[in-house]
Amino acid sequence: TPSNTRDLILSSCASVPDFPKPGVTFRDLTPVFADPTAFAAVTSALIEPFRGGFDRVAGIEARGFILAAAAAYASGTGMTAVRKPGKLPREVLSESYVLEYGTAAVEIHRDEFPPGTRVLLLDDVLATGGTLAAAVRLLERAGAEVVGAGVVLELAGLGGRAAVPASVHALATI
Ligand code: AMP
Repeated sequence: TPSNTRDLILSSCASVPDFPKPGVTFRDLTPVFADPTAFAAVTSALIEPFRGGFDRVAGIEARGFILAAAAAYASGTGMTAVRKPGKLPREVLSESYVLEYGTAAVEIHRDEFPPGTRVLLLDDVLATGGTLAAAVRLLERAGAEVVGAGVVLELAGLGGRAAVPASVHALATI
C-alpha cells in the first residue's frame, strides 16, 4: 500500500470511544468513503495485490458492500453480497460463528458461483477475524476459491489475521 494511502486512511478514520458499547473504540471509515481521493486510492490498493487473479469480489454486509462494489467495477468483475441471515430470497448456504455473547451467521445463495470462481473477499475492518473467517468458509463451501481477503483497517493485537484461513491484506494497521 502506498504510504500516502495509508496516511489518508489513518487521518480520515474517525475513532469513536464506547460505541456501540462501553470499552469498544469504533473505527468509522465513512469519511474515507466520502472523500473522492481516499475512496479511489483505497479501492485501487485493495485490488492491487490480487489484480488479474480474481473473477468476483465479495463484500460483507454492510460496509463491505461499499468496497466490494467499487472494487468489482474498477476491476471489471462482478460482485457478491455476503449477507446477514434471512435477507436472501432463494436457497442459501449459511455459516455461523461465535461472538463474545451469542452467535452470528453469514449467507449467500447456494448457486452463487460457477465452479472454480476465484474470489477476492473485502470488508472494512478486521477485528477478531470471526466474520472474515466465517465468510471464507462459506465461499469455499459454495465452490469458490478465495484468493485473498482485503481490509482497509486491521486492529492489531486482536489476533484476527491468524483466525482467517486466507491471505489477508490490510491497507493500514492501528
Ligand atoms: P470481527 O469478526 O471481530 O473481525 O469483526 C469484524 C466486523 O465487525 C467487521 O464487519 C467490522 O465492520 C466490524 N467491527 C468490529 N470491530 C470494529 C471496530 N472496532 N470498529 C469498526 N468496526 C468494527
